[in-house]
Amino acid sequence: MKIAVLKEVSPETRVAAIPETVKKFIGLGAMVAIESGAGAAASIADSDFEAAGAAIGSRSDILKDADIILCVTGPDPALLNGAKSGALLVGALDPTRRNDEIKGYASAGIEALAMEWMPRITRAQSMDILSSQSNLSGYKAVVDAAAHYGRAFPMMMTAAGTVSPAKAFIMGVGVAGLQAIATARRLGAQVSATDVRSATREQIQSLGAKPIFVEGVAGIDGEGKGGYASETSAEYQAAQAELVSGHISKQDIVITTALIPGRPAPRLISDAQLASMRPGSVIVDLAAEAGGNVEGCVAGETVVRHGVSIIGAVQLARTLAADASALFARNLANFLTAFWDKDKGGPVLPDDDEIVLGIRLTREGKLVHERLGPAQ
Ligand code: NAD
Repeated sequence: MKIAVLKEVSPETRVAAIPETVKKFIGLGAMVAIESGAGAAASIADSDFEAAGAAIGSRSDILKDADIILCVTGPDPALLNGAKSGALLVGALDPTRRNDEIKGYASAGIEALAMEWMPRITRAQSMDILSSQSNLSGYKAVVDAAAHYGRAFPMMMTAAGTVSPAKAFIMGVGVAGLQAIATARRLGAQVSATDVRSATREQIQSLGAKPIFVEGVAGIDGEGKGGYASETSAEYQAAQAELVSGHISKQDIVITTALIPGRPAPRLISDAQLASMRPGSVIVDLAAEAGGNVEGCVAGETVVRHGVSIIGAVQLARTLAADASALFARNLANFLTAFWDKDKGGPVLPDDDEIVLGIRLTREGKLVHERLGPAQ
């Protein structure tokens, strides 16, 4: 069994394997071939991979006879020329936005596995790339906000007077939001947070932050379906807008992370609410790529409105390439190991397995995932 690891194309900085996972695959009896320079942006030299037992080569060398191809961002199908029919392609393939490319994988006979569609079940937790990368994004959002903010986060009592603590408000308390709360607390901010899922109230409190919740109008019970939020009622949205208006004018830092799978990100902060904030405040919108939670947010840019900076964060995990690669690579290794069949010397993916059904996009030249429409 030959496992190939691609060098990603800029602006991707991460790599889908690290020396530790290379050793793990070799321990399972596989050969690992790494495209030269694949780890450079994540501070892993070719020699580190070689020391772990991998072979280093050009793209055509590594793809030749590869049974499994590991990537972070889904490659252009043309970059996989020379890969053999039936090879598995495992990575963040972004099937909702890359329909043509997914069809390209099918035409090339590649079996594409989209790791971001991993079901949220206990067995799959260690394979969940969305969680591992969101956790880092939540941390980095706060660090970026602090770097941009013209004041300090912690309270400081000095001979020259007292610096008051920053007030940080986290909107959306999933994986990224929880890490944002923890990071803002560590930096010394006074932290409050909100979500539509009632289960998050206790999680917010357990991190020492203040929950800000709509009372009297039903949001989303417990964890929500599969851990995800769905659209809330118009009545809830109106109550939420009023609650946010009252709270946000007193905040210095806001981190928004709210996402609803398969829909544009919910609008949580209006222009009028921005105008009520103190100039110099900083908002980091982690939902920027999904349309943004903040009115006027532009993905990949920092926009200043009413004196408030809105950072349209994109793929923040890429700015922590070494740690992000390590977690991502372990997610892939955990997945392959869980399905590894010792006798066959490779992964066996049963058709009726919940994980396989969740992530398999293409097989034998066809699109096979129900979310991609009928098999074609
Ligand atoms: P997400 O990225 O889909 O959304 C971020 C947060 O935004 C969620 O908490 C969501 O409830 C919230 N949100 C949506 N609309 C909102 C609105 N209008 N106002 C305020 N908040 C809003 O979520 P996520 O980070 O992927 O995680 C969601 C949950 O799934 C978490 O509880 C997490 O622990 C759980 N989870 C479970 C597994 C597993 O069991 N394998 C894996 C990953 C995550």
